[in-house]
Amino acid sequence: MTDPETLSVTIVDGYVDEPAHFGVPPYISTYPRYAAGALIDAGVPREQITYHTIDRLRDEPDYWRDVDEADLLIYLGGMTVPGKYVGGTPAEPDEVRKMAWTAGGTSLMGGPVKFGVGDENAGATETERQDLDFDFVAKGDVEAAVYDLVESGLEGFNNRMRDVDEVSRWAQEGAFIVEQHPNHPDHLIAELETSRGCAYRCSFCTEPLYGNPTFRPPPSVVGEVDALSDYGVKHFRIGRQADILAYGGDGEAPNPDALRQLYSGIREVAPDLETLHLDNMNPITIVEWPEASREGIRIIAEHNTPGDTAAFGLESADPIVQEENNLNVTAEECFQAVKIVNEEAGWRPEERSETEGVDNGPPTRLPKLLPGINLLHGLKGEREETYERNREFLQRVYDEGYMLRRINIRQVMAFDGTDMSDTGAEIANEHKQLFKRYKTRVREEIDQPMLERVAPPGTVLPNVHLEYHQDGKTFGRQLGTYPLLVGIPGERELERTIDVAVVDHGYRSVTGVPYPLDLNDASMDELTAIPGIGDRTAGDIVINRPYETVADADLETQFDLSQFVTARGLEHAR
Ligand code: SF4
Repeated sequence: MTDPETLSVTIVDGYVDEPAHFGVPPYISTYPRYAAGALIDAGVPREQITYHTIDRLRDEPDYWRDVDEADLLIYLGGMTVPGKYVGGTPAEPDEVRKMAWTAGGTSLMGGPVKFGVGDENAGATETERQDLDFDFVAKGDVEAAVYDLVESGLEGFNNRMRDVDEVSRWAQEGAFIVEQHPNHPDHLIAELETSRGCAYRCSFCTEPLYGNPTFRPPPSVVGEVDALSDYGVKHFRIGRQADILAYGGDGEAPNPDALRQLYSGIREVAPDLETLHLDNMNPITIVEWPEASREGIRIIAEHNTPGDTAAFGLESADPIVQEENNLNVTAEECFQAVKIVNEEAGWRPEERSETEGVDNGPPTRLPKLLPGINLLHGLKGEREETYERNREFLQRVYDEGYMLRRINIRQVMAFDGTDMSDTGAEIANEHKQLFKRYKTRVREEIDQPMLERVAPPGTVLPNVHLEYHQDGKTFGRQLGTYPLLVGIPGERELERTIDVAVVDHGYRSVTGVPYPLDLNDASMDELTAIPGIGDRTAGDIVINRPYETVADADLETQFDLSQFVTARGLEHAR
């Protein structure tokens, strides 16, 4: 019998990416937080709980010692949707196996890894679950397994799901673990769970494996936000649910009162939060309950921060594919949902300021909440026409003047236990060339003009975190749900944040200059990034410095620069 008081525990986060749950940095998923809370609840002292991300183990191999020496190693991970990530690299099966071999104590593996393990984090693969040499695999909730395992003196546990009381307690008690995340405190965003499970049964999706939706009541989520913000978290995403609009209802219909309690409660306990975004929203909810949904969407837009995205899983605009895969929303219905979100939440903060009636100047921020569209390829019944239908859907949204924050196009993964496991990755492999051509076309013909509409020149993106250099530019993103990738001329110091003004658009990224751009200090690269300013004009600007006002520079550009250009005090001049 092992006494919890003396137990040393190491939690390793191999990252998760599920249809409705994201945990690759800068995100931290719920798993390590709940697992830490379950440990505390079972009597393990806080100072004996160590948390590492897989990237930290790679970067600083000395930390493998914590894997070796812990009495209990908890590995959390699993990718059930394919993706490429900038902020971190998910654990590979070989690394996970090495962890089990290295562990000197008892080893437990949990998280979505229970659904299967692909060889790589790519689409169009089939997966099977392997135990990867761990002593225990949590086939129910890993946090319940952690609690029961410690309670049993590391003897074992029955696979079970945790209940609402447990998750409310563990979520709060485990909040302290965020302090051990390498991105803490500034560049960390906590994924919040409001519900699990789904009322629908799409063929490719692992979410129905959690059953019908169960909700965490508002005080449970709000209490967790309170605890997380006490530990310095300022960025939150309500991303762990299949449909935010269904929150607190009967599983399908919206309940605006519950949404109001949730959102206003969060704002109350974390008044200084910097990001409050969401992830999934089911367009079918909007179409079936349009009035209640409009109210819910308004509540969200009143409380969130700009640039928020409601990801719609249209998956396919082809009726044959919809039919064969049990998809629940038609292209027409999805279009209506796009329209409603645009109407209720597509406004920019300056357009509805508290000081109504006062001229707030031109809008400079991103819209409060816009839809995103997820399209999935390789599904049963897919044919050449499917690609055309999907493209036409996107074109219609653009042509009718609506905005989409992002278009996400992926190929399917076939998981055991989902309907797709019979079909596997066959169709996706057959259509690989078709898929490539179509994706390029969507990028060129829809993504770019849409980006120009969503983030016109002069749009200000505060706190862009600078992540990497490429081709003489610095790339970065804001924290939040599907943030825009911003390229800034020149190689600036990384791991810092700056405010940026958008000046130009690529297919999936924007070019930005530091905001405000000081004419007395801007580099040639920054000046020429502004459309209409060529080398000669930029050269003239530099030669004729300093300026007392922007007007002194006598710039003739195709759009109004006054929104983001300034001429600061002459002491700044070079
Ligand atoms: S609606 Fe379909 S894709 Fe979305 S969570 Fe439910 S089952 Fe998965």
